[in-house]
Amino acid sequence: MRHLAQGIDRFQREAFPAKAGLFARLATTHQPGTLFIGCSDARVVPELITQTDPGELFVIRTAGNLVPAHTPGADGVAASIEYAVAVLGVRDIVVCGHSACGAMTALAEGHDLSGAPAIADWLRHADAALARTAAADDGHELAALVRQNVAAQLANLATHPSVARALAEGRVRLHGWVFDIPTGTVEDLTADPRPALAA
Ligand SMILES: [Zn+2]
Repeated sequence: MRHLAQGIDRFQREAFPAKAGLFARLATTHQPGTLFIGCSDARVVPELITQTDPGELFVIRTAGNLVPAHTPGADGVAASIEYAVAVLGVRDIVVCGHSACGAMTALAEGHDLSGAPAIADWLRHADAALARTAAADDGHELAALVRQNVAAQLANLATHPSVARALAEGRVRLHGWVFDIPTGTVEDLTADPRPALAA
């Protein structure tokens, strides 16, 4: 924990003063343009990848960047999506997968998750992605699953009424990305015309 406290100290001495004007504006304004849904993986840092300032991204991070499809009932992910889209009025939503994803690796390699029931339940939200990846080339299952999972989560996202309404009214655009950790590159899957990835 000590390096975290040192980080806070350095932030207050160096980073905060450099952006004092920005933070003064942000004290009373919250108007992010983008909802960024990424994996909780510590190596995938939305603001770093996109070089964005505080206030620009509304971020939801879940294991495997999974977005449960809409169902009635309380759900923290659904509430955060609704807040970003219906209240804050974000214009773009990114679902970002990544290389070497632990969640996707567990599915692609069929890991025994009987000792981790919460993870096993949560990863069911990737069932459609897993089903579509069954025919992938040997040796490329993980990369294929990561891509199919982004497409599947974009489809799940569109089942949320706030997103469905914004899409119908042309107020929001959906984007699917994959971040490659060793090269730092970001592939835009939604620029790819393949029908499986049409959100
Ligand atoms: Zn991950």
